[in-house]
Amino acid sequence: MRTAIENEEPSTVRIKNYRKNGEPFWNQVSITPVRDDDGEVTHFVGVQQDVTEYKEIEELLEYRATYDDLTGLINRETLFERFSDELDRMKRYERDLSFLLLDLDHFKQINDNHGHHAGDTVLQHVGQIIQDQIRNSDIGGRYGGEEFGIVLPETDLDRARQLAGRLRETISEARVESPDGATLQVTASIGLSTMNEDNASAEELIQRADQAMYHAKEQGRDRVVSYKPERA
Ligand code: GH3
Ligand code: MG
Ligand code: MG
Repeated sequence: MRTAIENEEPSTVRIKNYRKNGEPFWNQVSITPVRDDDGEVTHFVGVQQDVTEYKEIEELLEYRATYDDLTGLINRETLFERFSDELDRMKRYERDLSFLLLDLDHFKQINDNHGHHAGDTVLQHVGQIIQDQIRNSDIGGRYGGEEFGIVLPETDLDRARQLAGRLRETISEARVESPDGATLQVTASIGLSTMNEDNASAEELIQRADQAMYHAKEQGRDRVVSYKPERA
């Protein structure tokens, strides 16, 4: 703001202030030079405005754009972005990377039998299990309705299979208290894909995990299946 004043230019800045009770608030201050007929700056006009609410809305919008409201995990778009970044990084350092796609089995029945709210509770519970089980460097997100995706950097297919197996087991052993008083159980079908020499994109790795997950469904659900390229 000082530089703008020295250069006789308009400027707008946001300043964090504190109220007497210690509560922070944001002030937006705009300063505009006023010139006389000869173009000389005679004075500045300043406007200040409390934009705390505005900033809170901005932050909320940013949160909504990044996270899934129900589970608190990152959303599909963010998962995809972070997957692409991580894939580039792992390729550059010639490290392994695997991807896990998890779809809950017969989830529609939970909604049908116990209501949508019960379904939501199960989704939150599964989201929590995922968060608890993955490492800090793994990236778990809500991929869609009752589907979750996990990016596993520095992880080959064998280790991914171990992690997926543990996850599958924990989910099947969990008991969720439903809002209607019932105790709910759910299982998951998990598809795995891994980066190899064929330089596949994040999109392709997701597709492969999806294909593997589909095979897991076909083979009876509640299991982990790794992607295998079709033989010509
Ligand atoms: P499958 O074992 O083949 O995966 O069967 P499914 O019933 O899980 O599969 P389907 O795709 O038929 O159903 C998914 C259901 O998930 C349908 C949809 O109503 C429900 N669903 C999606 N998002 C949400 C959500 O946010 N909350 C709740 N409660 N249900 C959701
Ligand atoms: Mg599904
Ligand atoms: Mg399903």
